[in-house]
Amino acid sequence: MKESRKVAAGRSWTGLVCVALLAGSSLAADDQQPSERFDVVILHGRVMDPESGLDAVRNIGIKDGKIRAVTAQELAGTRTVDAAGLVVAPGFIDMHEHGQAPRNYEFQAHDGVTTSLELEAGTDDVDGWYDSRQGKSLINFGVSIGHIPVRSAVLTQSEKGKGILDTDGGAAMRAAEAAAAHRAATPAELERMVEQMEKGFRRGALAEGMGINYTPGASRPEILEMFRVAASYAAPVHVHLRYASLLEPQTGLAALEEVIAASATTGAPLHVVHITSMGLKFTPQLIAMVEGAQKHGLDVTTECYPYTASSTSLESAIFDEGWQQRYGITYHDLQWAATGERLTAETFASYRKQGGIVVIHQIPPEAALAAVRSPIVMIGSDGMPITGPKIHPRGQGSFSRVLGYYVREQKALDLMTALRKMTLMPAQRLEKRAPAFHDKGRIRVGADADITVFDAGKIIDKATFEEPLQFSAGIPFVFVNGVAVVDQGKTVEHVFPGRAARAPVE
Ligand SMILES: [Zn+2]
Repeated sequence: MKESRKVAAGRSWTGLVCVALLAGSSLAADDQQPSERFDVVILHGRVMDPESGLDAVRNIGIKDGKIRAVTAQELAGTRTVDAAGLVVAPGFIDMHEHGQAPRNYEFQAHDGVTTSLELEAGTDDVDGWYDSRQGKSLINFGVSIGHIPVRSAVLTQSEKGKGILDTDGGAAMRAAEAAAAHRAATPAELERMVEQMEKGFRRGALAEGMGINYTPGASRPEILEMFRVAASYAAPVHVHLRYASLLEPQTGLAALEEVIAASATTGAPLHVVHITSMGLKFTPQLIAMVEGAQKHGLDVTTECYPYTASSTSLESAIFDEGWQQRYGITYHDLQWAATGERLTAETFASYRKQGGIVVIHQIPPEAALAAVRSPIVMIGSDGMPITGPKIHPRGQGSFSRVLGYYVREQKALDLMTALRKMTLMPAQRLEKRAPAFHDKGRIRVGADADITVFDAGKIIDKATFEEPLQFSAGIPFVFVNGVAVVDQGKTVEHVFPGRAARAPVE
């Protein structure tokens, strides 16, 4: 079986169709119940499964939200989708998506994403986060317990107690949060943070989120303590590194050393988010460090988005004094998401006071290419909430950009490797903590029927820095738990098949 799959994978596309048609029932060895009537059948597509290596024309039978047949035999279903000429792949799993509102989910569905996870920033209220999306979501959703929000809540508690924050809602709160981010936690505060993190894990948080760059007051012992907590719940720690400077001693390399050491000494799995915006021109060296850690037995992984700009809050610690030297950029490299305008010294000062999102044109194209083509770097969009018409396009187009621009046009990597980076690898990253992920990121009998059907010759991102709120093209069908959410390229209205992707609740 394995051998014939290898041969099939090497054949041309038209050749494959002929082989499948001629071979007919002789290929019937696959899992199947031909007599069964399915809810949905997806027929004659080029099924690609990164786990088994299957790359051949197959029919898929879906029943009760699960894949029940993957076969060369004809299948019958209540709904029939003809996928001839199209790739049928596991739905994409985005482990890094801050846009977790219905409109974001619609953009993500059109980009082939069936599971959207907020694992970097996370939440400080795991139950509330899941409850508010239950039964209302187009795609699957999940969250981490976040060090940033937990820390911020605990450290601003004293100010809240004094009633200071009630005087002038927004500005006072922002000032209190900024002060908290820049100061060390007291032993009592650290104890409360540990309690909150543990509570989050007991409530099924998928991971621990951490953004040390945003909380420069968090000491190394504090970070180690947080890794220790994650380790006791077998939870991966998804980290935005402490530094991303081009200048020592605050380079991404130095910052990566801190968390690799934390992972090695506590046993907590480490996942480094958006390695390109952390590494900048040093990205290849950072990838080599992750690869080296893996080779020497550490559970360390990483991800990237396929763009040459990053994006974050202008009021955050990222833009503390000295940012131009640290990142090798100037005001003009910053774009205000609300309007698209490039900043000046004056607008920088006023907008930083006001607070809001900027797009930062700072990642060398070679760095983006190095990460996208590396087989060890997963794809995660880092998509943003829709706060303005000129937000970063990554939340709307990352996955089709990898498949269209980098795979088809640039030939930077092959299609199966690209799919593996956005399906199987994220599922494997999470399945030790959340066993539900054993049935995601795969096309096989028993897997969740999260399926993305796309045209490998047409798939492409349409979201740009100028017009970021555009659906991707070339993805006619997307199924979530067996329910079509994108049908013939159109959003299906009034369906909410998305389920909570959650670790076991204690
Ligand atoms: Zn980040």
